[in-house]
Amino acid sequence: MAKESARNGLLIDYNYCTGCRSCEIACQQEHHYPAGQFGIKITEHVLEKKNGLSIYYLPFPTDLCNLCAHRTKEGGKPSCVKHCQARCMYYGPVSELAKQMEAQPKTVLYAPE
Ligand code: SF4
Ligand code: SF4
Repeated sequence: MAKESARNGLLIDYNYCTGCRSCEIACQQEHHYPAGQFGIKITEHVLEKKNGLSIYYLPFPTDLCNLCAHRTKEGGKPSCVKHCQARCMYYGPVSELAKQMEAQPKTVLYAPE
């Protein structure tokens, strides 16, 4: 039986994202994007709660994100995952990342293709 090729994606545990933008810069440098072009962009969300405001940062991959195919085909991690200061980004098969989500609240899963 032919082995199905896994569909891969990025899991981001935004509960721990500090908004440091290292992933943004690492992606720009890896792909030589000029100023103003991004493979991933940090968004800021301010939520009102009973006891005050909460600020969350959420990195959002753009249409330029190709999951660092040139790195991952050699067994490496995507540049953003490698350089995430908070170690809150994961790369892998979507099915495995979805299982990881069940145990981690405040996560988002991106699967561009
Ligand atoms: S996986 Fe690669 S292309 Fe996609 S956002 Fe991360 S560094 Fe950029
Ligand atoms: S490098 Fe990690 S902690 Fe920093 S903004 Fe990106 S996802 Fe958040």
